[in-house]
Amino acid sequence: MPDTTPRVRSCDEKCVMNNYDAIIIGAGHNGLTNAAYLAKAGLNVVVVEKNEYIGGASVTREMHEGWKYSSCSYVCSMMRQAIHRDLDLARHGLLLVPYLGGVTFGDGDERLFSYHEGEAAHHELKRHSPHDADAMHRFQTDLTRYAQLIRKTLMRTPPDPTSFRPRDIMELLYLGKQFWALGEKELYEYVRFFTMSAAEYLEDYFENDLIKTTMASPGIIGTALGVYSPGSSYILLHHVMGDVDGSIGAWGLARGGMGAISDAIAGALAEHGGEIRTNAGVQQVIVENRKAVGVVLENGDEIRARIVVSNLDAKRTFTKIMDKNDLPDGIYEKACNFKIRGSSGKVNIALSAMPKFTGVPENRYLNRGGQLFAGSLETMERAYDCWKHGRWSDDPFIEAVIPSAWDPTVAPAGKHYMSNFVQYCPPKLASGPWTPEKRDQFGQSVVDKIERYSPGFKDLIVHMEVRTPHDIEEEIGLTEGNIFQGELTIDQLFFNRPFPGYAQYRMPVKNLYMCGSSTHPGGGVSAVCGANAAREILMDLRRPNSVPEDDFYDE
Ligand SMILES: Cc1cc2nc3c(=O)[nH]c(=O)nc-3n(C[C@H](O)[C@H](O)[C@H](O)COP(=O)(O)OP(=O)(O)OC[C@H]3O[C@@H](n4cnc5c(N)ncnc54)[C@H](O)[C@@H]3O)c2cc1C
Repeated sequence: MPDTTPRVRSCDEKCVMNNYDAIIIGAGHNGLTNAAYLAKAGLNVVVVEKNEYIGGASVTREMHEGWKYSSCSYVCSMMRQAIHRDLDLARHGLLLVPYLGGVTFGDGDERLFSYHEGEAAHHELKRHSPHDADAMHRFQTDLTRYAQLIRKTLMRTPPDPTSFRPRDIMELLYLGKQFWALGEKELYEYVRFFTMSAAEYLEDYFENDLIKTTMASPGIIGTALGVYSPGSSYILLHHVMGDVDGSIGAWGLARGGMGAISDAIAGALAEHGGEIRTNAGVQQVIVENRKAVGVVLENGDEIRARIVVSNLDAKRTFTKIMDKNDLPDGIYEKACNFKIRGSSGKVNIALSAMPKFTGVPENRYLNRGGQLFAGSLETMERAYDCWKHGRWSDDPFIEAVIPSAWDPTVAPAGKHYMSNFVQYCPPKLASGPWTPEKRDQFGQSVVDKIERYSPGFKDLIVHMEVRTPHDIEEEIGLTEGNIFQGELTIDQLFFNRPFPGYAQYRMPVKNLYMCGSSTHPGGGVSAVCGANAAREILMDLRRPNSVPEDDFYDE
């Protein structure tokens, strides 16, 4: 069996300058995917990563002895099966399992339990509203149909609608055909859906506020929009267009935490002979004669290659590691104006025991899903109002999950790890810069809210890691801590992502490409941006394609 241990070198010591076919800046899961596909096609690639660890926002870190936190991303659904299979990620150690249930906590004593099993789920909905129990089937069917259309675009390069190249015309025709196939009524609905708010869209289906709250919650995750903001219904779709093992809309956990995904991709990269250098932050992309030819590292080392690929977000790529004078007119300004507003915080908690939640039956399936401390649509909107005014809410929206309820590798025996994703948290505070004290206060607001629903919760806390958007930017380099490397609003999607005219992974400087979540189809642990970019690069280098077609097993 080939040695698949990632060839990771630390650049603490001066590295020898070398010549490569491709340099990938950043070992986020997309950078690693891009490198793996280029290496698979026979290219000599090196990934340079500023941190001492790989994975970017898809990482597992032991922040307290015995507890392994998924420090940023925490659940999986968007990973494309075609990539999973093609890179043989299971053989490289990746195991994904679906959620089995979950609980939404209302503002008062109301609870909505979500069950994996259809009949149990229907009964629970009926308890809240017989009308909504019936409507749920219609809602899921409609959403799945919308998701199926979007899924077909994920592993395809967006066409340039202003180009007359045969490939772009063919791609536009393909998309037009898919769109028209929806039928007249659906077409109108689709356009409506893309521009509506999540809360308004749900009005078409449901009457019960807690059910609407639960279904609206994916519409605000990671975005600087509220449930009533136009455009949030697309975010809702973005979060339900993935799948776990073909079950569309399902979410799951990665055994060993989200870093297991990055590690498995790094294993595939190593198998194909790729190299990773950690502690190797890039200071500057070298441009000569209007072509990207290499990078200068923060320690002064220079590495040269035929092409340079950035896994960094669009703003960081063009305003931090490139010289404005190397860019064509207008690009720097486009990058400055790229919408990348951070809105999320993360609180990872080591617990001495499984917490008990009032009003929740002792049902281990409910623990194998998420705990949604959402309150109501009104509470979610009020939390958004706080963000707009540069502060966090005392009554935040928290999406929690306790991975150790299923995965014994992330906490010591009998103990637990709880991941809490928090909306909203501003990257910049109205009261002045973030300080360690303010970070602790933000963490405290999260713990206080959980304690309301789980008396005694605070006594179980062994360790806490609190991450604000400011911390996420400092560590991972996600500008403003925006989890998607740029807002997923219609002005920044598809052939507009990252900028109109540059959605095909080639950037305005020759031999420079982008492969991170700032590109189509956007954020989330999908590996798609990295794979799509590799396909375009191989085409330019006239190498055989090593990237698989998407497989529509859901049709
Ligand atoms: C708090 C949080 C929660 C999330 N939750 C989920 C979730 O549950 N599920 C999900 O699917 N998605 C989630 N996401 C989104 C998802 O994690 C990201 O969209 C995705 O991981 C981004 O991957 P990427 O490879 O495109 O970029 P990144 O992960 O941002 O990788 C960029 C890499 O570049 C490196 N870098 C930066 N600057 C330099 C430099 N100058 N030189 C060299 N290297 C550099 C960084 O260290 C990093 O490793 C979450 C994100 C966050 C932050």
